[in-house]
Amino acid sequence: MILKKEKNSLNSQINCLKGVGFKYYNLLFSLGIETIRDLLFYFPFRWDNFSNVKKIAQIKPNEKITILGQIVEIKNIRSFYKKLTITEALVKDETGNLKVVWFNQPFLTQNLIKGAKYRLNGKIKYSKNQLILQSPSYEKAKSFQAKNSDFDQLIPIYSITKGLTPKMLRYLIRQALEYIDQLNEYLPKEIIKNQKLISNVEAIKNIHFPQNFEMLKKAKKRLVFDELFIFQLNYQLKKYSFRKNKSPKISKKIPYIKKILKNLPFSLTNDQKIAIWEIINDLEKNSPMNRLLEGDVGSGKTIVATICALNTAQNNYQSVLMAPTEILAKQHFEQVTKLAKKHQSACAILTRSLTKILNSKTGKIEKIKKDQLKKLIKKGGIKIIVGTHSIIQKDVEFKNLALNIIDEQHRFGVMQRSFLTQKSQGNQKSTPHLLSMTATPIPRTLSLTIFGDLDISIINQLPKGRKKIITKIIPPDKRTDAYEFIRNQIEKGRQVFVICPLIEESEVLNTKAAEKEYEKLNKQIFPDLKIGLLHGKLKPKEKEKLMRNFSKNKISILVSTSVVEVGVDVPNASIMMIEGAERFGLSQLHQFRGRVGRGKYQSYCFLFTESPSSKTAQRLKYLEKTQNGFKLAQKDLDLRGPGEFLGHKQSGFSFFAIASLKDINLIKASRQEAQNLVEKDPDLKTCPILKKKMEKFKDVHFE
Ligand code: ADP
Ligand code: MG
Repeated sequence: MILKKEKNSLNSQINCLKGVGFKYYNLLFSLGIETIRDLLFYFPFRWDNFSNVKKIAQIKPNEKITILGQIVEIKNIRSFYKKLTITEALVKDETGNLKVVWFNQPFLTQNLIKGAKYRLNGKIKYSKNQLILQSPSYEKAKSFQAKNSDFDQLIPIYSITKGLTPKMLRYLIRQALEYIDQLNEYLPKEIIKNQKLISNVEAIKNIHFPQNFEMLKKAKKRLVFDELFIFQLNYQLKKYSFRKNKSPKISKKIPYIKKILKNLPFSLTNDQKIAIWEIINDLEKNSPMNRLLEGDVGSGKTIVATICALNTAQNNYQSVLMAPTEILAKQHFEQVTKLAKKHQSACAILTRSLTKILNSKTGKIEKIKKDQLKKLIKKGGIKIIVGTHSIIQKDVEFKNLALNIIDEQHRFGVMQRSFLTQKSQGNQKSTPHLLSMTATPIPRTLSLTIFGDLDISIINQLPKGRKKIITKIIPPDKRTDAYEFIRNQIEKGRQVFVICPLIEESEVLNTKAAEKEYEKLNKQIFPDLKIGLLHGKLKPKEKEKLMRNFSKNKISILVSTSVVEVGVDVPNASIMMIEGAERFGLSQLHQFRGRVGRGKYQSYCFLFTESPSSKTAQRLKYLEKTQNGFKLAQKDLDLRGPGEFLGHKQSGFSFFAIASLKDINLIKASRQEAQNLVEKDPDLKTCPILKKKMEKFKDVHFE
């Protein structure tokens, strides 16, 4: 490979910098750094103050300190349990010795030299009767004499790699900063002024080498704002171009809707009414709706969707209600037909193996051949079509599809979703309105970010009279009692779910754990009861059969891995038992809990935990006393950060922008500015640099 030497531009390859030869070129390349610009945007994740040195004999637990000491010993240890490499070192100064550990950075045994003196900055932990300095940043002590003034300041700590020292990286970034003035300002002046931001040049300078804490704060604010703003702008631009499509106008038939509501066996909750109102108002516009309906399990989303579909049918337009599994589709169809029967609407179910139709004359549900059903749909004879992916097969055509309702859309994946909108567009030159539904409550700051292009309706209350699911943490010594209780419930005819802990990101290991649990229950604890095992390795047919048997109460206990979504309503199940509860987020535990309490029986959720350490127990205690999914999601966000919601894939945000996903004011501000800009200048004619940046912006998917 020939490394070209170009100079004097932000886009120049890093090998034009002093000290970057073949070795460093490759090392930096492996960190994703190719140009000077990349280097400037390689942000530190921490800023340490190395100047305040303490003696080892003086340190106390939980202090953040710097020590100056010699490395006596350093080695890597593999921890198989957690799949970690731990680097352990012993450091001494004239007052004593201190153990130092780092996690998953095995190369440190090569970067750090035994016998040499270092400054180490980090937090002191107290564990197993000794003080430990955990994951400190480090600097070779000698470099302090050379450039002492550096260390009176805040020192940037970058994530590095084998062979690249923090010192070298700083040396390179200092060189890169000489080109900083070439960086153009891409934010419109007005936004900078409104939001009281510093310039991007100042921000980049100070994010690497802050003049002081105050400037570091301002630099972070500016750079976080940039990330959030670009993200929101991307969504607002999309929203704008989606809105440009034409959609059928569905007028609100208020007397008809009132009649439906009057005939319900219950009255809707206030949130349900508001959601319906928001949706039918959107449907009246001739640009497509793109709305998300969020509400806990059992909050009654289906009826909201059904009423909107009936109103659409009353306008002589078609609706689709799509569920991720056949069982769910069947359950939706039952709910839909109940109402459609009374309010004269033709509806049908279409899945891979199931095609039925509601006979509007007799009010009976009848079997129909698939071909015949498809013909009816094409002619417009069916107004509400419930089903699975089968609905979006190429050969299903509609007369005038106006409303797409997708339940738990994240389970369909991105491709199919876009397929559905495009297909209907092609058919009739108009875009159907889109309503997505989810039972995963997400904190408001995050939904404004993750679902930036959607309008959101929230059902934040359960219908009156729902029984609380009694939730209990079960410590190891109470396990036998819990099993006794479970047996008692089963004798009364109830059923039980058992969720096995998530061991790894590996389905093989999870399945193994579930098999072990199944063996234990089947052989030792409940040898006389019928137990089923559900895991990700089962074929779809086997899964469905198992679920059917559980639905019919041919199985009393269903053991399942946590990654398998059960996705059915089993009103007879009254106990949810979760092993290794401390390993799950509160939102996820809440999702599991939502599998019970669907029938008339008092239901229970038992959280088994082997390590009821105070922090874990506190988190689980919150679940004991809280039934509201949004509150739990917020707590998750506070305690565990946004990672829980963003999934395992890279979110594309820098670490400090991620931290800011809790900051509702900043998120609202960035969204508002993006909205204003798109309203004023949807083609970004007034801000060409920003426009160019947006073209390069890659979509981030949170799945
Ligand atoms: P989800 O939001 O989980 O999809 P569903 O729509 O399946 O919830 O509703 C769960 C159950 O609650 C259904 O049997 C439904 O008929 C019933 N339901 C819905 N709304 C109400 C209400 N306002 N009062 C009482 N029961 C309701
Ligand atoms: Mg539902």
